[in-house]
Amino acid sequence: MIKYSFTCNSLKLKHFAKWLYMLLCFPNHQRFIRLFCEILASYLAIPPERVFLFASGRMGLYTLLKSLALQPDDEVIVPGYTCVVVTNAIKYAGLKIRYIDIQSETLNLDTKLLLESITPKTKVIVVSHNFGIVYEDIPLIKQKFPHIIVVEDAAHALGSRFKNGRKTGTEGDAAFFSFEYSKPITTGLGGALIVNNAQLHPAIEELYNRFGFPPRFATVKVLITLFVQLLTSYRYTVCLRGLMIQGIKLLALLATTSKAEIQGAMPHHYPSRLAPHLALLGFLQMQEIEAISCRKAAIAGVYHKMCQEISGVYDIYNAEYVYVRYPVIFSETADQSRIDEIGFLVKIKTGIALGEWFNDVVHPKGSYRYDYKDYSCKIGEIMAQRIINFPINIHTTIDTQTTRKLISIFNDFLLTG
Ligand SMILES: *Cc1c(COP(=O)(O)O)cnc(C)c1O
Repeated sequence: MIKYSFTCNSLKLKHFAKWLYMLLCFPNHQRFIRLFCEILASYLAIPPERVFLFASGRMGLYTLLKSLALQPDDEVIVPGYTCVVVTNAIKYAGLKIRYIDIQSETLNLDTKLLLESITPKTKVIVVSHNFGIVYEDIPLIKQKFPHIIVVEDAAHALGSRFKNGRKTGTEGDAAFFSFEYSKPITTGLGGALIVNNAQLHPAIEELYNRFGFPPRFATVKVLITLFVQLLTSYRYTVCLRGLMIQGIKLLALLATTSKAEIQGAMPHHYPSRLAPHLALLGFLQMQEIEAISCRKAAIAGVYHKMCQEISGVYDIYNAEYVYVRYPVIFSETADQSRIDEIGFLVKIKTGIALGEWFNDVVHPKGSYRYDYKDYSCKIGEIMAQRIINFPINIHTTIDTQTTRKLISIFNDFLLTG
């Protein structure tokens, strides 16, 4: 029976109770938007005017790209290990993509390869902090190519710190965070664009002021879906999730990224702002973000210790990272065909359904790979096949008995394999 959730990583039922209370007590709901902006800004140590809230992270990226008024054959560089909604945002903005391979040691851009690949057409570089692992080379890119706009895809990395102590989202010309169900904090669907380069600010603000909120019913659907995810994020309720999600799907109350969007079509109400009711949920999680990150760091520490006792896998650990999930990668020597068998046994014996996440250069598997040429990012493709991930979720307790089981399953397979 599955006992661990990969969604609602920081959200508790208690937050929903507070949320209801505040909705009833404060009739001016618009002010929840300001509260969320302010608490995010203060966490990142930036002024609150730099934060723009959207109905998803991808819409923040799209808005930034539109604000730059680029030419149709201008090029955006993205890592050859990214999410389809990122590449779609670039497609919708009418720009070309160049994928640059990643490094197996960081799961992030290979800086040397990146610097060699920049052409006069390159106008924007999206660098990601995959899984919360920090990409450190932004100053190097800016030093060599000061005119190129660097955008941090910080969807996974709220709270992770650069070596210099600053938080991710504060070093690029701009950055975006995601508050989707499975991200570090969640408003159901949602995201923020952070604008650090003051020159970009006026054009973005002008665009943003024209955007509306999603239709009320869309927000209700997000709230219902999020509530179901939350109810089924506890150890003894996770097993009910499939059924409950099917139930709301039948009632047409499920809010997710549509199949058509994963295949490259632009959805309705793209872009729009984050609804104030959802912003309030974000605010309530941010109020406790230090304690939440502390809890996550403890969980990551347990996985890191576990990985040291397994031969044939490696992890990428740093105490300064706040992971969205804990990635574990099978070494070259490990028998590929056994990954699925291991996943099955882990599920049966521990109740962890190993994450099927980032299993393609353009996640998820089977999505529309806009402008991607097969085999052009070899490391990205290999990592996508060799990676598994463990939950980093405050509802999760990984006790010694569980890690012992995990160690023995992995070692049994990998040592005899
Ligand atoms: C989730 C995600 C996004 C997009 O965030 P949304 O809020 O879902 O639009 C972007 N990049 C990465 C790496 C992601 O995982």
